[in-house]
Amino acid sequence: MSNPYPLGLRLAGRRVVVVGGGAVATRRVPALLDAGADVLLVSPELTPALRAHVDAGRLRWEARRFAPADLDGAWLVQVAVDDRVAAAAVSAAAAERRIFCVRADDRAAATAWTPAVTRHGPVTVAVLGGGDPRRAMTVRDAVRALLNARTGPLSTPGAEEVAPVDTPRRPAGRVALVGAGPGDPELITVKGWRLLTEADVVVADRLVPGLLLDELRPEVELVDASKIPYGPSRAQEEINRILVDRARSGKFVVRLKGGDPYVFGRGGEELLACAEAGVPVTVVPGVTSAIAVPAAAGVPVTHRAVAHEFTVVSGHVAPDSPASLVRWEALAGLRGTLVVLMGLKNLAAISATLVAHGRPAETPAAVVQEGTTSGQRTLRSTLGAVAADVAAAGLRPPAIVVIGDVVGALGS
Ligand code: SAH
Repeated sequence: MSNPYPLGLRLAGRRVVVVGGGAVATRRVPALLDAGADVLLVSPELTPALRAHVDAGRLRWEARRFAPADLDGAWLVQVAVDDRVAAAAVSAAAAERRIFCVRADDRAAATAWTPAVTRHGPVTVAVLGGGDPRRAMTVRDAVRALLNARTGPLSTPGAEEVAPVDTPRRPAGRVALVGAGPGDPELITVKGWRLLTEADVVVADRLVPGLLLDELRPEVELVDASKIPYGPSRAQEEINRILVDRARSGKFVVRLKGGDPYVFGRGGEELLACAEAGVPVTVVPGVTSAIAVPAAAGVPVTHRAVAHEFTVVSGHVAPDSPASLVRWEALAGLRGTLVVLMGLKNLAAISATLVAHGRPAETPAAVVQEGTTSGQRTLRSTLGAVAADVAAAGLRPPAIVVIGDVVGALGS
């Protein structure tokens, strides 16, 4: 058999017909949609996942068996049915119209093969296994591991020995505000991780997991934003200045922030500073500690029949301070879960205010220090006793206080 000829099909706006609505179609359709194809699905039945695409208007569905005229105007057809006779009929109609036909049931009868694929940002690696899909997947897995080892900040020992891969040219002079997640270095997003490995300059927060910084390439400039002197507002101006200056000199700057950049992270101010200076900015959300840290301690922020709301609030300003923007009296009236960030210093005043305005003192409460890290400590208490218990246990920031019946909903 002669060798296949590899191609990258540009399917945006082009009709692709998928015949069949079962497991194979369910796996193939997302990549077609991702490529922007105008997908027509022909099948009497659909899996729930395919039906969801139909309901969302992402593809057109003909609820019947295939008819040759379905291929009129198509550029490609994917046959995802087991029935050989039906599949052969599609192949024949495709051949007549000179349309490439992928066959899940019979590779020998197909006029095109789908490769095993791994995607790394803009790079797509596609592997054909010479007629053996298992071999293709094995090679694909090996390439994926190589690329992860090469570009990942958490690469395993020995990854340096991997032959260098040419990094693609990327647009210079920009900033990405990246959420690093709550503490466990594996809880950064895939996109955040990739951008981090592409950065020329990394400006990191105090709460950013150290392991993420450990394996930055030596030539990357690392700015520790927590070490910038001056008070908080001068320091913020200084950080904004660093972001803008470095980007203007053509660098790709990653501003790495604990949790999510927009949850008490001053990400908005940095975005505005860059926008004012005409520097392009991307924002990559992160897993916020407000949800992940309670979860890591076994507390779901919502739970069926227990809490149908959760409120995230900053406790860094004392409740009775004129500078407080939080209406603690109103929060005391909520039934749902209250998650307090930066609340340890004012915990006695916060819990007393909530009780004074009607939240029962026996409401369960938990405090989680350094959640999702190896230093995680959890204390279970009640709203009435939590401040004294935290003091007695010597818990320190960063910590999250979670108040409500969800504490204990999964057992203790
Ligand atoms: N942008 C961050 C929050 C920044 S405010 C996010 O989305 O998670 C800083 C506060 O977050 C800390 O004072 C603490 O209350 C909380 N916090 C962040 N990481 C934490 C962790 N690993 N464990 C406990 N609390 C954490």
